[in-house]
Amino acid sequence: METITNLAYLVSAVLFILGLKGLSSPRTARRGNLLSAMGMLIAVVVTLFDRQIIDFTYIIAGIAIGSSIGAISAWQVPMTAMPQMVAVLNGSGGGASALVAVAEFLRMTSQPGVDVSVTLVLSLLIGTVTLTGSLIAAGKLQGVLRGAPVAFPFQQTLNLILLSLAIALGVLFVISTPSLSKVVIIAIIGAMLGVLTVIPIGGADMPVVISLLNSYSGLAAAMTGFVLSNNVLIVSGALVGASGLILTNLMCKAMNRNLGNVLFGRVGVEEGGPAGITEQRRVTSHTAEDAATLLGMAHSVIIVPGYGLAVAQAQYVLQELAVQLAKRGINVRYAIHPVAGRMPGHMNVLLAEANVPYDLLYEMDAINDDFQRTDVALVVGANDVINPAARNKKGCPLYGMPILNVDKARTVIVCKRSLRPGFSGEDNEVFYLEKTLMVFGDARDTLTKIVGLVKGS
Ligand code: NDP
Repeated sequence: METITNLAYLVSAVLFILGLKGLSSPRTARRGNLLSAMGMLIAVVVTLFDRQIIDFTYIIAGIAIGSSIGAISAWQVPMTAMPQMVAVLNGSGGGASALVAVAEFLRMTSQPGVDVSVTLVLSLLIGTVTLTGSLIAAGKLQGVLRGAPVAFPFQQTLNLILLSLAIALGVLFVISTPSLSKVVIIAIIGAMLGVLTVIPIGGADMPVVISLLNSYSGLAAAMTGFVLSNNVLIVSGALVGASGLILTNLMCKAMNRNLGNVLFGRVGVEEGGPAGITEQRRVTSHTAEDAATLLGMAHSVIIVPGYGLAVAQAQYVLQELAVQLAKRGINVRYAIHPVAGRMPGHMNVLLAEANVPYDLLYEMDAINDDFQRTDVALVVGANDVINPAARNKKGCPLYGMPILNVDKARTVIVCKRSLRPGFSGEDNEVFYLEKTLMVFGDARDTLTKIVGLVKGS
């Protein structure tokens, strides 16, 4: 039986790896997801047949309740709230690892070996940090908690003291008789560390933090795998840990920041107003008719989607507009910035929903030089990812972030509701350029009008 179990776990692990590989491109992402899900199904079924830990009634009840909560929340959550959802799921993963560690401790009848004790402590500590850290991150993104960094004197010192205390208790747990009181105190310290390390980080950096916490949840699961001597949990936990770290690194690179700056830089909009707007400036507002006329005369158009596209749910009408323009022989492409939206791949997922062909989507580096030869850059609900302050305004939160060169296009159309800044709080020079047409309003309403006009002309 053990050989069959391990063989099945090996198949699961291979499916996880192939699944992750599939996620590296929007074309293969659905298949990747399916492969990983199959791997997980095999792992769960084999584990259930292999271990008679608890009554099947509890297992089935747990699966039914957990799956219902997961399915209903995933069904109901809007795309704009997906990062919060991911945070809650990561937190649940961390919490589950911590609970398994506690359960294993309670089941122990004799002194565990050093390997089991060490991994049990790590699973408990990392799991509780992940649980509370993720809940704070989700609360900040959902607006339930204050998004601005929360800081107080000696915050880092306190964190260091708590971490040292947890390590000291962990060492005691390993070398002396393990006790429930140590388990409880380590769990409390972990929970406090989760809260204290995430509150000083600004809401704008939460997606990066969530990706990091995702990696922690993988590490906690891998540690639990050692406690339970379960190979597939070790492998899948390690994969989640590693891929979460790679993603964190990619996101930091796309924003031209390092992880230290994200975690300790306290970057974020302070309450009381956006930091980057120092004066009131006026721009001329244009109509959907102006935009439709300009688009109708163009030979080439590059569409730049941003977070506002997701808020307005304007992806379908945007795709319709692109089709209408293409029918007139206009070369239409989409420029995708790596951090457009609120999570990696946000725009790809959104546009895939509306069946935008993948070959029309261009990553920033592949299209940035083409803006200067393009008639119209059509910006839909994007702001920070086109903000030239990133090139030239030292000290601003965006400085150094690579941006899409929409200001180099012959004309720019911006669809958004107001002159309000984006996530970074930084004012955007593009709105005030002579060649820019600001068309104010909800992106879906504006685009619907433009499509109607283009169709009718
Ligand atoms: P921004 O947040 O910079 O701007 C979005 C714009 O959309 C806003 O200025 C808003 O303006 C507009 N908007 C909102 N609702 C609507 C609507 N209904 N109709 C039309 N417009 C609307 O988004 P970007 O995509 O340009 O930039 C992403 C930001 O998120 C960056 O700062 C990035 O660093 C950050 N981030 C992204 C991560 C990722 O992985 N994608 C990770 C971490 C951070 P108005 O209110 O005037 O309508």
